[in-house]
Amino acid sequence: MSTLQTQLKNIPKILPKYAKILEKMELHSVEDLLLNFPFRYDDFSQASPISPEYINQTVTIEGMVTKSKLARVFRRKMTIAEITVEDSSGNSLKAVWFNQPFILESLKEGTPVRLSGKLTLKGKVLQMSNPAWERAGRETTNTGCLVPVYNETRGLTSKWLRWQIKPLLAIAQQMEDVVPYEIRQRLNLYDIYTALTQIHFPDSKEKLLRAQKRFAFQEMFLVQLKTLQIKSLWEGNASVPIAFDEKLIQNFVSGLPFKLTNAQRKASFEILKDLEKPAPMNRLLNGDVGSGKTMVAAIASLQAMQAGFQVVIMAPTEVLAKQHFESFNKIFEKYDFNIALLTNSYKLVSSHQSTVNGNDKVVISQWSTVIKNATAVISQQSTVNNCNAKDDRLPMTDDVILKRDVLLNKIQSGEINLVIGTHAIIQKDVAFKNLALIIIDEQHRFGVAQRAFLQQETMSANDPVKSATGHGASGQKKTIPHLLTMTATPIPRTLAIAMFGSLELSILDEMPKNRKEIVTKIIPATIRQEAYDFIRQQVHEGRQVFVILPLVEDSKVLTEIKAATSEHQRLSSEIFPDLRLGLLHGKLKSKDKEDVMQKFKDREFDILVSTSVVEVGIDIPNASVIVIEDADRFGLSQLHQFRGRVGRGEHQSYCFLFTNSNTDKATERLQAMEDSNDGFEISQKDLELRGPGQFFGLVQSGLPDIAMEHLSNIKLIKFARAEAQNILSSDPDLKKHPLLASALQKFQEKIHLE
Ligand code: ADP
Ligand code: MG
Repeated sequence: MSTLQTQLKNIPKILPKYAKILEKMELHSVEDLLLNFPFRYDDFSQASPISPEYINQTVTIEGMVTKSKLARVFRRKMTIAEITVEDSSGNSLKAVWFNQPFILESLKEGTPVRLSGKLTLKGKVLQMSNPAWERAGRETTNTGCLVPVYNETRGLTSKWLRWQIKPLLAIAQQMEDVVPYEIRQRLNLYDIYTALTQIHFPDSKEKLLRAQKRFAFQEMFLVQLKTLQIKSLWEGNASVPIAFDEKLIQNFVSGLPFKLTNAQRKASFEILKDLEKPAPMNRLLNGDVGSGKTMVAAIASLQAMQAGFQVVIMAPTEVLAKQHFESFNKIFEKYDFNIALLTNSYKLVSSHQSTVNGNDKVVISQWSTVIKNATAVISQQSTVNNCNAKDDRLPMTDDVILKRDVLLNKIQSGEINLVIGTHAIIQKDVAFKNLALIIIDEQHRFGVAQRAFLQQETMSANDPVKSATGHGASGQKKTIPHLLTMTATPIPRTLAIAMFGSLELSILDEMPKNRKEIVTKIIPATIRQEAYDFIRQQVHEGRQVFVILPLVEDSKVLTEIKAATSEHQRLSSEIFPDLRLGLLHGKLKSKDKEDVMQKFKDREFDILVSTSVVEVGIDIPNASVIVIEDADRFGLSQLHQFRGRVGRGEHQSYCFLFTNSNTDKATERLQAMEDSNDGFEISQKDLELRGPGQFFGLVQSGLPDIAMEHLSNIKLIKFARAEAQNILSSDPDLKKHPLLASALQKFQEKIHLE
C-alpha cells in the first residue's frame, strides 16, 4: 500500500527511466508528485472552427470522425492511426498518432470528437500530430473540458503525468490539512483532498477556481502566521534610543545641493522620532523610483552614527550595494565616518576613511592593505584623487580573504561606522560592536515571506553575545537594531496595510521638483524604424540607451520572446552597426556583469542590451532612452521601475514600449504607462490587473503562478491575516497546532534566502 511518503521509484507503474526524470524535477515522493500542479489548463470548451487561419497555432476543434484507418509502416515497425475529422464549418483535418493503434477503437467513423493540438499544413491538408483527444458528447457541456498541462521535461508528457497522478490521488486522502477545519468551514474552502483533485482534474472552471483559491489562501495564511509571529517577537525586544539632534540634521540638510521634498522631510522626521524610542523601529519607507529614499536613509544613518552607533545598509544585489557604497561615501564626504563595503563574491573588503581632521593618513598607514584596495574601488566613480590603482577587481586570493578578516575585526571593534553590502551581511558571522540601525533597500526583490525571514535574521544580527551596547537594555529584553525597509517601487497603500500590518508606513509620494517628465510611447512593429532612427539621433547627441528584453535565451515555450543575445547580435549587425553595444544578462558571472555596467557608465557603450533579471537599479544619468521589448510581458510596476532608469540626469528622457501584441488587453495595460508617470497610480492599476500574488512575485514560494493569480483580492489577504491573528492569540507558539508549526518550518526551509 502506497503512502504519501512512498518514493516514486518504488511505484511499479513508474518505470525506472521515468522515475529518474522525476528525480531530476525534484519529485521524489508521491506527495511531491501530487503537489506538482499544472501550470495551465487547455480549455476544450473553447473550440475553434477548422480553418487554415490557425496554422501553427495550438487549437481545440470539435467535429465528427468521417474516416478512420490504421496504417502500418513495416520497415520502421510503426503504426499510424489516422482519422479525418469534419466540423460544422465544413472543413476537415487529418489527425495522426504514432504507435497508438488502440485510439481507433474509440474513434470510429461517426464518433463526435474533440482534438487539441498544433495545426499544421501537410501538402494541402490540415493536420494535427498526436493531438490530445476526447470523445465529445452529443451535447456540449463545460464539464471535463479543462485539460491540465504540466511542465513537461525530457520525455515526460502532460498526458503521462495525468495518467500517473490519477491513481495516486486517492492517497491524498491521507494528507493532513494544514488549514484547520474551522477556518475551512468559515471561509467555505475546499479541504486538501478535494482541492488537489480539482487542481489536477477539474470538473469545471468554477471548481478549479475554488481549488486555486484554497491554495492561494493557504499560502497567504502561512505568510501571515509567520509575519505576525515575528512581529510579536519583534515587539518583545528593546532597542537603543537615539536622541534626535536637531542641529546636526539641520546642518546636514542645509549642506545638500537641493531642498528636501516635503515628503522626504516628513518621512525623515517620522524615522528620527522612532529612533528616539527604546522600542525597535520597524518602518517601511514606501516610495517611487527616484523619490529620494537614499537621502532619507542617509539622514537616519547620520543620526545613528553621530550618536556613536553602527549602521548596516543592505541591498539585494552586489551592483546596488556598490552603488550605495559610492553614494554614501559622497554624501558623508565631510564627515568623519568609516564606511565599508562587504559583499560575497567580491570577497573584497574595502573601506573609506574620510579626510576630515587630516587624520586619514594615520589610519591609512594602519590599514594600508585595506585602504589600497578600497581606494581602487572608490576611484572609479568618486572624486577621490591620489590613487592610481587600476585594479578595481580584486583577485580572489587567500590574501583578500585575510583582508576580509581584518575588516571583520574593524567592524567588531566599532572602527567601521557604516557597513554596506548584500543581505549576506547579517547571515554571516559578522559581529558588530553596537549595531543600532539596519536599513534594507529591497529593490522589490524580496518576496513577502522572505522579508519575514529576513527580519528574523536581523533580530539576531545584534546578538548580545556579539555586541555590547550597554545602552537601553531593559530587564530581560534583548536589544535589537532599529529596522528601516525601503521599497524599490511604490506599493499601493491599501495593499501595504493589508500585507504589512506589522510595519509603520512612511510614504514618499512626491518627486523632487527638478524632474523632467519622461515621455512614454507604445511602439507597435509598424513604427519601430522611426524609434530606431530617434535612438541613433540621441546617441549622436551624446546620450546612452538601454534596451531591455524579457528572457535570457530562446526558450522552447516562449519562442517569440527575443533573446538578449540574439537581439544584441541583430542590433549590432543590422540596426546599429555604427554604434557600440554592450550585453548584460543574468547568466554572466557577477564580475563580468560589473564590468559591463562599469563600461556603460564610462560611456564605452552607446547602447546596453540587457535582460530584466539583471539589476537595473543602477544610476546612469547620461542615459536618456529606455526601450522595453515585448513590453506587454512585464507587469506595470516592473515597467515603471525600468522607466525609472532614465530621467536621472538633466536630459529629456524617453521610454519606448515595443510590443508585438495587438490585443486590447495588452494595449490597455501599456496605455496606463503612457498616461501616467505616477508610480503609486501605476502600481494601483497593476494591483487591480494582476492581483497581489503577481504584484509581489510570490513565485519563490513554490506555489505555481496559477494559484497566485487567484490571490486576486485584498480581501483574501485580510481574511488570512484575521485567521492567523485569531490562532496566534490563543496559541502564540502554535503548540496546539503542530501541523501548522511544521508547515511553517517547511515553508521557511523552502523559501529561505539563498
Ligand atoms: P530612490 O528613491 O529611487 O532610491 P534616490 O534616493 O536614488 O531615489 O534619488 C534619486 C536622485 O535624486 C539622486 O540622484 C538624489 O541625489 C536625487 N535627490 C534626492 N532627493 C532630492 C531632492 N529633494 N531634490 C532633488 N534631487 C534629489
Ligand atoms: Mg534607491
